[in-house]
Amino acid sequence: MSSDGQASQSPRRGLLLMVVAPSGVGKTSLTRRLIADHPDLHLSLSYTTREPRPGEHDARDYHFVDRSTFDQMVEEDAFLEWAEVYGNRYGSPKAPIMAALERGQSALFDIDDHGAKTIAAQLPEDSVLVYLLPPSLAEMRRRLTARSQDSEDVIRKRISRAKEEVSGWNTFDYVLLNDDFDRAYADLAHIFHAERLKRTRNPWVGDFVGGLLAEEVEG
Ligand code: 5GP
Repeated sequence: MSSDGQASQSPRRGLLLMVVAPSGVGKTSLTRRLIADHPDLHLSLSYTTREPRPGEHDARDYHFVDRSTFDQMVEEDAFLEWAEVYGNRYGSPKAPIMAALERGQSALFDIDDHGAKTIAAQLPEDSVLVYLLPPSLAEMRRRLTARSQDSEDVIRKRISRAKEEVSGWNTFDYVLLNDDFDRAYADLAHIFHAERLKRTRNPWVGDFVGGLLAEEVEG
């Protein structure tokens, strides 16, 4: 049995994988595939006050709620973090994330850099921060224009925000360049696999080693 197989059958603590990237870098395709390939990894579904875009569904892409429901949740301290982005509010719900960690399940966060940093500051041992770089800003603009979801004004804001965000690259645990989907995906999956195997996330190791040391063998 592989060491990963051994660990997955024993108590393990989950991790919080924060993948941050400017829009138009291909983050959604990468993270959705990572989730599809790993049954113990779930998307942390954010709440938002923004309107659903065509093709988006409630409880699949976001929990779409009105402003008063969102503000009520803020008051009840139901979010690990929340933020206002381009005039809409977004928040990561606390309860499902804490429950997942305890069960040994991991959560992937599709959130902005401030949100990721806020969560990592609260749960530093559980958090892994990954930043995804675009091959170029010109390519990012091309992808944003091609997907026709945003006005020219929003695209300009996204690019100027991307410049700010990219400048914080050296505060992340890992930085990946998404110039080739398969390679970037393999790198992201390796990060997740290695982080799951960290000693601190596998408390079974202590008992196992205790048992090994108690074995009566010659030598
Ligand atoms: P969009 O409206 O394009 O889905 O998302 C806009 C921005 O909000 C993206 O940068 C996205 O990562 C971020 N975002 C989505 N959910 C959350 C959240 O729960 N918290 C924070 N801080 N940002 C979020």
